[in-house]
Amino acid sequence: MPQEITVGSHVWVEDQELAWVDGVVTSVNGNEAEVETINGNQVTTKLSKLYPKDMEAPDTGVDDMTKLSYLHEPAVLHNLATRYGIKEIYTYCGNILIAINPFQAISHLYDTELMDSYKGAQLGDRSPHVFAITDVAYRAMNNEGKSNSILVSGESGAGKTETTKMIMRYLAYLGGHAAAEARTVERKVLESNPVLEAFGNAKTVRNNNSSRFGKFVEIQFDACGQISGAAIRTYLLEKSRVCQISEPERNYHCFYLLCAAPPKEIEKYKLGDPKSFHYLNQSSCYELVGVDDSHDYLATKKAMDIVGISVEEQDAIFRIVAAILHLGNIAFALEGEDSSVLEDDKAKFHLQVTAELLMCDLEALETALCKRNMVTPEEVIKRSLDPLGAAISRDGLAKTIYARLFDWLVKKINVSIGQDPDSKCLIGVLDIYGFESFKTSSFEQFCINFTNEKLQQHFNQHVFKMEQSVYQEEEIDWSYIDFVDNQDVLDLIEKKPGGIISLLDETCMFPKSTHETFAQKLYQTFKDHKRFVKPKLARTEFTIVHYAGEVQYQCDQFLDKNKDYIVPEHQELLSTSKCSFIASLFPSLNAETPKSGKFSSIGSRFKVKSYVLASLLQLQLQQLMDILNSTEPHYIRCIKPNSDLRPEIFENVSVLQQLRSGGVLEAIRVKCEGYPTNRIFSEFLERFSILVPEVLKETVEENVACKSIMEKVGLSNYQIGKTKIFLRAGQMAELDGRKAKLL
Ligand code: ADP
Ligand code: MG
Repeated sequence: MPQEITVGSHVWVEDQELAWVDGVVTSVNGNEAEVETINGNQVTTKLSKLYPKDMEAPDTGVDDMTKLSYLHEPAVLHNLATRYGIKEIYTYCGNILIAINPFQAISHLYDTELMDSYKGAQLGDRSPHVFAITDVAYRAMNNEGKSNSILVSGESGAGKTETTKMIMRYLAYLGGHAAAEARTVERKVLESNPVLEAFGNAKTVRNNNSSRFGKFVEIQFDACGQISGAAIRTYLLEKSRVCQISEPERNYHCFYLLCAAPPKEIEKYKLGDPKSFHYLNQSSCYELVGVDDSHDYLATKKAMDIVGISVEEQDAIFRIVAAILHLGNIAFALEGEDSSVLEDDKAKFHLQVTAELLMCDLEALETALCKRNMVTPEEVIKRSLDPLGAAISRDGLAKTIYARLFDWLVKKINVSIGQDPDSKCLIGVLDIYGFESFKTSSFEQFCINFTNEKLQQHFNQHVFKMEQSVYQEEEIDWSYIDFVDNQDVLDLIEKKPGGIISLLDETCMFPKSTHETFAQKLYQTFKDHKRFVKPKLARTEFTIVHYAGEVQYQCDQFLDKNKDYIVPEHQELLSTSKCSFIASLFPSLNAETPKSGKFSSIGSRFKVKSYVLASLLQLQLQQLMDILNSTEPHYIRCIKPNSDLRPEIFENVSVLQQLRSGGVLEAIRVKCEGYPTNRIFSEFLERFSILVPEVLKETVEENVACKSIMEKVGLSNYQIGKTKIFLRAGQMAELDGRKAKLL
């Protein structure tokens, strides 16, 4: 820090609880200082660890971090906290928008009048807002004919989905049709949200309405800038939730909505109290504060109407939802040594209802649950599963049906909204799970964090490499500005061959492997990798040093969770359902295969239907990156101010961690170390030659003239490029200030 720190200086000092606390220097001893903090503590610390506090900073904070006189971590944090305190939840950091979840409705924040006021406004003319970023993206698309994307990130509960909905609302407002009858496209786009939320969202510890899938919505525009189509892509729905939930979470909303349906439906689907269903009663949370499930059931049906899901389809969809609940209640008991039978009459009742609802054969259903085909070169033998095996089989079936249903919904919505083949420009909106690190992180976290590494690289490339490429182009010295590239983590995870995903796939293909052999393989392969750590005494854990911090993964279930194939017996059962909707979810891939089932046919069928999730995700992410790379990106970083989901509480330490993992601190650092402002020589001279009028009289070259202005004013550390002058943070303001004094 350039600022001199002496006795009486106001400074920020590190604090365990608050991250940073302000105070006054009471004494300086060599390179140490004593500080009296505002909470009354005496702290001794190194001078180099103190940051000056800007005593002239406005009480209401600044709306763009790059306007801070001192751009450092405590100032950034203090600025955000100050603004949050006065309900200013949006702040820019250059062209990144930081959005802090208010956990309360802020009046007029999303009104139509406000939308009007952002239309066509320059970024920075009006207070920071998600509308402003969206407006910039929309205008850039219209003016330059280039696709744009808006990437919304943040941890669970940070407000990504709400932000995405506002972006979509604003785009519908900008690119909406005047005539009511033409408005169907944007209505379908907007109403796809409640439908997907009913089936893909659930209450979790972190968020009462947590999206359990990633989503990329591509909104297509015609030559007049009006919405002409849309496509929704989803990523990694959390399937395990369908049959396994823990206190105080809930299963997917649709199950509770259906249990709160009008009596006619309840009777039709033989439903009742959610407490009576195994898939719901593993947690004692059934109701959500402020949510009326019976109202939401009707609202979901209405939204389904709008997105073009017919009444018959809706019936089939909810029949499947009910069937899954009944399926979960089919319990098994041990018979003989290792076979299983239905536990009791209750189990029999639910088996019967499940078969009715799925419109499949009752006995075939029972066999599919309790038995497996053993394929030998000579024949196929039916082998019994023990009760645990049967329960796993049952849960597998429930998950597969649910996942297929979800995919169907996405496809249906896409077909119904329609794609515009002539559209040249699109705006993509990405709402995807943020970085996760838990006490025990498993395969899901691995996939989520891999996704975030990919997105972080995109962010890096954009923010940092763009910044540097300008310096490079102008041939100015930027060698000392370094940033943490995460290519090495990505190599560790996805390199082909040899990365973790490749090794995982290989392990899954090899029948004898276990999670232990997988772990050993990882330890051997990556023993010298900087980003890979084998924890002491670990046998099945490994640690990846992610860009956002270290995460220890427990690989016990990696193999099972990665193998995502449908049991052939289940496939066969459902593809013959009398309900055409259900049968269509399970198209039989080898219609020509003889029913008797020879080894080769079952073997090849198995091969066709099995795929490995991690590499599927890798493929999907590559496609996503290809789209994103062809667009001009805009970033919104959502921040969760506290983990109680309550308004007006701002927890410094956690916010800082999020700013770090979102790359915001890194972006600020690079900006600070570099040159946040640059101007073409002529523009600079036009603006500031008044400060040193004689420079224009001497007919020197433009760059020399710029230099002499800076010298005369006494500013240094700037750089002169080929066509532009590059200023350090604050220098522009300094020059403007001098000019203002003259005028
Ligand atoms: P995420 O998608 O990041 O997990 P959500 O967008 O679902 O988080 O937000 C979680 C909750 O926070 C919402 O259900 C809502 O109650 C609240 N919330 C988020 N953004 C806002 C906002 N801009 N204004 C008011 N409340 C919000
Ligand atoms: Mg969400």
